[in-house]
Amino acid sequence: MSGRIIRRAVVTGGAGFLGSHLCERLLERDVSVTCMDNFLTGTPHNLIHLLGRPGFHVVECDLTDFVHVSGPVDLILHFASAASPVDYMKLPVETLKVGAIGTMHALGMAREKNARFVLASTSEVYGDPLRHPQHEDYWGNVNPVGPRSVYDEAKRYAEALTTAYRNSRDVDTGIVRIFNTYGPRMRPHDGRAIPTFIRQALAGEPLTVTGDGTQTRSICYVDDTVEGVLAMAFSDAAGPVNIGNGAETTVLDLARTIRALAGSRSPVEFVPRPADDPSVRCPDVGLARRLLGWTPRVPPEEGLARTVEWFAERLARV
Ligand code: NAD
Repeated sequence: MSGRIIRRAVVTGGAGFLGSHLCERLLERDVSVTCMDNFLTGTPHNLIHLLGRPGFHVVECDLTDFVHVSGPVDLILHFASAASPVDYMKLPVETLKVGAIGTMHALGMAREKNARFVLASTSEVYGDPLRHPQHEDYWGNVNPVGPRSVYDEAKRYAEALTTAYRNSRDVDTGIVRIFNTYGPRMRPHDGRAIPTFIRQALAGEPLTVTGDGTQTRSICYVDDTVEGVLAMAFSDAAGPVNIGNGAETTVLDLARTIRALAGSRSPVEFVPRPADDPSVRCPDVGLARRLLGWTPRVPPEEGLARTVEWFAERLARV
């Protein structure tokens, strides 16, 4: 880790799941935070507990419009983008626009402020991978016209743009490729496997496992992902660097674990698998360990137990 001093950060997409945790953790480190969000898939509720904290500001804006913040900025964490398949398939053009134009605006801001810039990229850049586990030097297997392409290709373009600003505009950039992350503040209906299984298990409804459930996912608890992103932010590394948990599980086992943690007797129901759904997903996190001294620490059972508890409490209130 470098001796980088960060006094003020901008978090784009700061009202979302990951962004809100990042805002919170930066404030804990005495970094002032300006959150920029248009609340397309995020919500001010994720930030309510931070409002009024010294140094915390929320700016409602669309990153695809002209964006400006006054005063010095040391770090930009660019997290604005729909991220769940349900969201980005509903918002295909918005997703491509924020990946392209939004990223260009955020990079322009980093250049103007002489700030470090970290792009939230994704394991989806590997598509349906032909190499396993996925190492950063793998270029991926992406269908450019498939239903997931709006997200995958937006992020691949955002990576290319970030690299171009680093090489030809002298912007200090880093790219993190984040793998499936879960934890409190996910939306119960965002369509991702973990919130879906938890919601179904708590309601005693069938757990809808896609395909035969043998496809794998590696899941990383949000606190670990946030630590990895911040390690990247405070470093000088360019990346891309995988941030994820190498503990791989089948989707069927994930459903069964969640059912047990929720004390539920929900049956499992097999439903058709979406097109281009990846068969395997597992990060090689050796580079993050060597470069950033980061490894995930929260075992899946513990992280899932915390998440089930958070959902149980939240769903009981609505
Ligand atoms: P999220 O949907 O909860 O948060 C995204 C935020 O971006 C929302 O608050 C949304 O309102 C905001 N946003 C979208 N378009 C915008 C625009 N044009 N202008 C301003 N704000 C805009 O998603 P998340 O899960 O927190 O993901 C955050 C980032 O991390 C995304 O870039 C995503 O690609 C990346 N990521 C997430 C995961 C994961 O497992 N959650 C995995 C890989 C990558």
